[in-house]
Amino acid sequence: MIYFDYNATAPVMREAREAWLHVTEKLGGNPSSMHQFGAKAAIALADAREKLADLLGCHPLDIIWTSGATEANNMVLHHFARKLGATGEVWVSAIEHPCVFDSAQHYFGRRAKLIPVTRDGVIDLDWFTAELADTRPGLVAVMAANNETGVIQPWRELCAICHQYQVPFFTDAVQFIGKLPLKGLGECDYVSGAAHKFGGPRGVGFLKVPHRSVITPLLHGGKQEGGRRAGTENVALIAAMMAALEVREKQIARGEHVLRGIWRDNFEREFLRALPSTTLVGAHSPRLWNTVSALMPDGDRKLQWVVRLDKAGFAVSTGSACTTGKEEPSHVLSAMGFKAAHAVRSVRFSAGWETTEADWDALLKGLAKVNGELHHAKS
Ligand code: PLP
Repeated sequence: MIYFDYNATAPVMREAREAWLHVTEKLGGNPSSMHQFGAKAAIALADAREKLADLLGCHPLDIIWTSGATEANNMVLHHFARKLGATGEVWVSAIEHPCVFDSAQHYFGRRAKLIPVTRDGVIDLDWFTAELADTRPGLVAVMAANNETGVIQPWRELCAICHQYQVPFFTDAVQFIGKLPLKGLGECDYVSGAAHKFGGPRGVGFLKVPHRSVITPLLHGGKQEGGRRAGTENVALIAAMMAALEVREKQIARGEHVLRGIWRDNFEREFLRALPSTTLVGAHSPRLWNTVSALMPDGDRKLQWVVRLDKAGFAVSTGSACTTGKEEPSHVLSAMGFKAAHAVRSVRFSAGWETTEADWDALLKGLAKVNGELHHAKS
């Protein structure tokens, strides 16, 4: 079975497993305890915090450890709901992950204004600058890269524009971190990340906040994380996350992702040659080097492709919520202007650092095989 669903989750790398085991076996104390076991765990925690702050370019106290990005993202929206009160407005991109999108709807309802995207899946900067000249929202939330399409958002520009108008800027960097350099993310007021997308374990992540300003806790009942997030920190998971991130940052610094981007591009070229009625989504925008979002040939439903590819030995995804078994069009593709009839044909192939050129070639063959089966079934 070849795995092409890294944007959903990635395998835990050796270095992360070793770091987890080391902390679990050797540093088993509670970092809040006063004894030596506690002190050792607290040192490991402080070390992880400094490493992440250094990579992001922020203050160590800006970091709050969380159970993952869903918690981190909810924390931001929850905080701003309290801070801005009953009349405050937030602007959220129309392509956010549901844990930002739904959270914004939950806390702000109609006061959560959607920032439109272009047909190529990038935030409409013209709309954004024109609107911002007129109104000042209490928060702007735009993800660094989209999980369905891989399209990279202009978060640096958005952050600079927001700061010009003294509007706080929040970016969900879950899909960006571990694939492209972290440098500069620390400039954003709020940044979320999750270990399991880059080779760390599931159930751990972080939120970067401006430490000089107060953040309303989501969880109460403990003084951990400076009173900002109650609950005993899972030092082993945090150390494993940082071990994975350090490996990824080194790979990125060596430019190892560039060749992987070329393999993806070659795959897309051959894919279009083999199945010419496929549409590649966001292909004209800067994208993560690992993601292919495709509208499969006309008339073929995405679930058929996913199920048949699974049988053929390839784990791929529909790229959108499919929890009810119904093929709902993705809100991301709808925001990009794709009609529901087209959007329901989307399939996502997301590779990882472990994916080889031979894996992409095998996927091409798998797609040709399934295409043959589907056409045989139709005739
Ligand atoms: N944000 C984005 C862009 C994601 O892709 C995901 C996971 O799919 C999340 C947030 C949620 O992360 P977690 O699984 O850590 O809660």
